[in-house]
Amino acid sequence: MYVKSLTLKGFKSFASATHLGLEPGITCIVGPNGSGKSNVVDALAWVMGEQGAKSLRGGKMEDVIFAGTAGRAPLGRAEVSMTIDNTDGALPIDYTEVTIRRTMFRGGSSEYAINGTSCRLLDIQELLSDSGIGREMHVIVGQGQLDAVLRATPEERRGFIEEAAGVLKHRKRKERALRK
Ligand code: ATP
Ligand code: MG
Repeated sequence: MYVKSLTLKGFKSFASATHLGLEPGITCIVGPNGSGKSNVVDALAWVMGEQGAKSLRGGKMEDVIFAGTAGRAPLGRAEVSMTIDNTDGALPIDYTEVTIRRTMFRGGSSEYAINGTSCRLLDIQELLSDSGIGREMHVIVGQGQLDAVLRATPEERRGFIEEAAGVLKHRKRKERALRK
């Protein structure tokens, strides 16, 4: 399983649709300061369901929508699609290619889709959590994240281990069921 491509449209500094094709193995993104390297990483986290504005380096969730520049008007929505190669079946879904899409509109409403079919955020979270790239133990190690692991409370640390072991999903389900 690997990320095959990422398409950003109206996400942060990427006003025009920008398609990034990726290969298996290590990908490096290089460029001058402020050119959007970290925004690409933010897009990866965002499309996988990140809900914290701070983790996306913004004040509020809507800050991911292209805010306009001197020569270009702001946009009304941000959209990111991530295509995962699933020929090894690491994702528990019957497709060799899986595209996850997240769209957010000004006003805050969000839409999610898996292979073009609308779904809930929960569906995306559950799909990814079985593959080891779920939200609490994903592959993104951002600046300051090592600190966060070192400073985590015992409960948070337990969450990391549970997610790695694949039991977090079941605990969350149990918690949801008990709340009802
Ligand atoms: P560095 O090398 O300093 O880490 P970088 O390549 O990682 O830089 P980013 O942080 O990805 O750069 O990009 C920052 C740029 O993205 C800034 O110019 C900022 O104005 C722009 N930006 C962030 N959010 C938005 C938005 N919502 N609309 C328009 N531009 C945005
Ligand atoms: Mg950066």
